[in-house]
Amino acid sequence: MFEIDHLGIAVKSLAQARTFYQNLGMKVMPEETVAQEKVRLAMVPVGDSRIELLEPLSEDSPIAKFLAKRGEGLHHVSLRVDNLQGTVENLKKSGVRLINDQIQVGAGGHLYVFVHPSSAGGVLLELCEERPKGV
Ligand code: ZN
Repeated sequence: MFEIDHLGIAVKSLAQARTFYQNLGMKVMPEETVAQEKVRLAMVPVGDSRIELLEPLSEDSPIAKFLAKRGEGLHHVSLRVDNLQGTVENLKKSGVRLINDQIQVGAGGHLYVFVHPSSAGGVLLELCEERPKGV
């Protein structure tokens, strides 16, 4: 089953973005740091989906580069898939351009890859899979 796992939004200030969503009456989860992506993030649950607020940790973070080029805004759409490995193999066979060749492991143990916007209608597309519980 496919679902929108989350929408990633690049922000200059996580503190300001948190306040905005809290003022809407929404619950903002505690901040997390993802060292390999050089970002600090906070998730905002929206029904079964989430908004992911992303603040760069350093100048060479992909989010810092995005902010410098495009300013704040929608950074990526994340789709949850059942079989990430199989999906990635199919994409590679069809010549789809991926940002990372290998499947990455995220902070919460979930698996993910990014599809380059040139292959996904101009949108940076994250594909993710929940790691089976207890494994
Ligand atoms: Zn994401």
